[in-house]
Amino acid sequence: MTAPFRAGLVAVIGRPNVGKSTLVNALVGARISIVSPKAQTTRHRLLGIATFPEGQLLLVDTPGIHGKQKKAMNRYMNRAARGALVDVQAAILMIEAGRWLEDDALAYAALKESGVPVVLVVNKVDKFADKTALLPFIAEVTREREFAAVHPISALKGKGNDALVKTLIGLMPESEPLYGEDEITDRSERFLAGELVREQLMTRLGEELPYSATVEIEKFEEDGQLLRIGAVIWIERESQKPIVIGKGGERLKAISTGARVGMEKLFGRKVFLETWCRVREGWSDDESALRRFGYSD
Ligand code: GDP
Ligand code: MG
Repeated sequence: MTAPFRAGLVAVIGRPNVGKSTLVNALVGARISIVSPKAQTTRHRLLGIATFPEGQLLLVDTPGIHGKQKKAMNRYMNRAARGALVDVQAAILMIEAGRWLEDDALAYAALKESGVPVVLVVNKVDKFADKTALLPFIAEVTREREFAAVHPISALKGKGNDALVKTLIGLMPESEPLYGEDEITDRSERFLAGELVREQLMTRLGEELPYSATVEIEKFEEDGQLLRIGAVIWIERESQKPIVIGKGGERLKAISTGARVGMEKLFGRKVFLETWCRVREGWSDDESALRRFGYSD
């Protein structure tokens, strides 16, 4: 007799930069959630749909929870992370191998309060040549804390992901698949297109990136097999423009090319992408501007 199919929601919780989006992409098998070495890359809640022969996992990728809540943007990001705990069947608490910080303890406490089973995922184990060096760390973290399971993994290298999937599916209720087998996210192609431009911004601008830069997709048109996309990069000050545009427009061109390549791969179609940079003062602390740029719950 074959085991029954299982399906349900899994929240992926943890500090910024521990590798939550990398794991979601690895399990889904496509780059739907953007990744960068910078904290605060993920701003929106996003569902990654990962279908396996034994079950289907709906992974809720979240922005990390932030201590500072002064700006409307940070408040939005915290709401998105906390809201992810509603109606999930399990939660992943992702931490970085060798590091347990106060924010990890806060996330653990919030998860325990919600009452869902918590799977501890210790990511980035590839950074440890000698894996036995991790054992005392894991023993310390799990002492006096309760986890449904503990999985050391490398989301980046795909190590340990299969065992983690097995554990997660085991925690899901028996259910028919909740989404079609070929679906990979609840977000539109238009949304994903904007995120791919933002990912390029974050990766190519490094530390000089204006924290508040965002992307709006002004045009998203199908033209036969071709997608015609127009993207606006919004910044808060005129003085930030040269940073985004670069000498002779080189940087904006590189951002645009990088984003187009990502879109063509994700959408499986040719893309014609135009990208502009415009100024709107103070948008990141302006609730109506936030809504216009897609930051609403
Ligand atoms: P998030 O903020 O938790 O969503 O983290 P991201 O998925 O955006 O990853 C943050 C950074 O950590 C990126 O530079 C990733 O490439 C890197 N990263 C993610 N997983 C691993 C891993 O398993 N090993 C290593 N060495 N780096 C990783
Ligand atoms: Mg992320």
